[in-house]
Amino acid sequence: MKILVLGSGAREHAIVTALLAEDAAHEIIAAPGNAGIAADVPVIHLDPTNPTVVADFAVDNNIELVVIGPEAPLVAGVADRVRQAGIAVFGPGKAAAQLEGSKTFAKRIMEAAGVPTGRAARAGTLDEAIDAIDEFGAPYVIKADGLAAGKGVLVTADRDAAIAHAEFYLGQGSVLVEEFLDGQEVSLFFFSDGHDVLPLSPAQDYKRLGDGDAGPNTGGMGAYSPLPWLPDTFVDEVIETIAVPTVRQLAAEQTPFIGLLYCGLIITDKGIRVIEFNARFGDPETQVVLPRLITPLSALLFAASTGGLGLLPRPEFSPEVAVTVVVASEGYPETPITGRVITGIDDALAIDGVTIAHAATARTGDDFVSTGGRVLSVVARGADFADARDRVYRAVDAIQLEGEQHRTDIALRVVEPSA
Ligand code: AMP
Repeated sequence: MKILVLGSGAREHAIVTALLAEDAAHEIIAAPGNAGIAADVPVIHLDPTNPTVVADFAVDNNIELVVIGPEAPLVAGVADRVRQAGIAVFGPGKAAAQLEGSKTFAKRIMEAAGVPTGRAARAGTLDEAIDAIDEFGAPYVIKADGLAAGKGVLVTADRDAAIAHAEFYLGQGSVLVEEFLDGQEVSLFFFSDGHDVLPLSPAQDYKRLGDGDAGPNTGGMGAYSPLPWLPDTFVDEVIETIAVPTVRQLAAEQTPFIGLLYCGLIITDKGIRVIEFNARFGDPETQVVLPRLITPLSALLFAASTGGLGLLPRPEFSPEVAVTVVVASEGYPETPITGRVITGIDDALAIDGVTIAHAATARTGDDFVSTGGRVLSVVARGADFADARDRVYRAVDAIQLEGEQHRTDIALRVVEPSA
């Protein structure tokens, strides 16, 4: 198949790597990609958020499947335009992408579908926000209503900080004040063809910058999969109570969800609750889920894009486990320092079971240099988590980037349950 992958992060590199690992030889093009992706497949420099530019490129180049990695092209309507051009596209249209783009929309869909989630109040003014903050009480959870690149959510015990956060995001629209939910978080992805869903393997990500969940929220500092501590019934329960009702509700509203339904879940003592939905693969969870996928990824993406997912068996996963550790720039997340040379990548790749998904790199001559906050997602597979952690941290240690930051406790809680 001739496949166009849109995006430029580690997630897209992981998608490209999984497609290349299939027995079938695909022709893959990425746009705009990054230096790591460019080392594997041709990349072209087009604006992935411009619907006409993407659709014209796909038509002119006989692309058979467009896979949309990030949220921005979805919200911009790229999937709608490509679908109109008669090309299979993995990614929801603008209307269904509101599931991620608008927390108010997501809450309304969940309410209509009877999907369990935290209580929330939408506030359009500071007075309304303060009333809701005092009604829900501490710890406070304040969310920007629109897309905020992972920075819109504040969870804090400090009432003044909660109010200041609400005030900041009220300047850009409305905010949501939400009931605090306590428990382990799980990311569970589903392929959806608009009617039926197929689950991937659960993963857990680490959103805070520092070990022990200290420091600010980030786009994600690491992840592991599977989650051996989950009950056996977990995936089936999420299918029945969350994924299918959500997809059917969207279909009933004439906004079918075709693509990747990312369920951000929390297991509270009252049961599973949805924290958020995303309309695309999560980063860094994708980097640990896809390397374990045995079923050819292209077949799943194509079936989701064209219908008939319900006829396929559930995707199969390797019993091997996977851990990813993100190597981030000095100053990330506030003010990442970029343009620094990265060395040791080949030494890291020489370790058995290790792959590297590039997140923000460019080439200058023979060197890779950093171009953003999250620079590399170092991935290791292993027989168990102690093994995968040993490999991934040897690989991270082999990589040199001045001032780099990474967590040392990814998947540690599986190896040492008290951690
Ligand atoms: P979100 O961008 O909605 O995924 O939120 C980012 C992070 O904030 C989540 O991964 C949780 O760790 C935390 N969070 C969001 N909503 C809640 C909530 N209602 N209760 C507790 N923590 C939350």
